[in-house]
Amino acid sequence: MHEPKTPANPSRKAMARVKNPLPVPTECRFCHSGVHVATHQEVYGRDYSDWPYMYLCGDCGACVGMHPFTNIPLGTLADKATRDARKNCKKPFEAVWRSGLMSRTEAYAWLAAELNIPVDECHFGWFDISQCEAAKRACLSISAERTA
Ligand SMILES: [Zn+2]
Repeated sequence: MHEPKTPANPSRKAMARVKNPLPVPTECRFCHSGVHVATHQEVYGRDYSDWPYMYLCGDCGACVGMHPFTNIPLGTLADKATRDARKNCKKPFEAVWRSGLMSRTEAYAWLAAELNIPVDECHFGWFDISQCEAAKRACLSISAERTA
């Protein structure tokens, strides 16, 4: 008898696959209100994946998704400005490794060094706005150097 998988009853296999799991957020890092588990259905009106769960601040709406079939957050709680900043630095970063200048793994190591953080903390989902801006600057500048 298998209970359906939910964040309260996650897949043990999926949990074990996540490297460097971040702790479950309980307090919003923006407004300090409580954070609860919500579904895409509740927030967006429909489910966007087969793991439609997220952590949501009921007060300011900051949110973060979960690794599929786990209760492990994909990153740190993000408000709209943080989500936008993360989105905006992703393309310049992808351009760095898609150009063939370095591999994707090398690009993460390079970016971690640029940001002065350990490589296992170098995930866009973990970045705050200032880290996103620094990442974007570094990526644009290395790409510009290469094409100069
Ligand atoms: Zn909040």
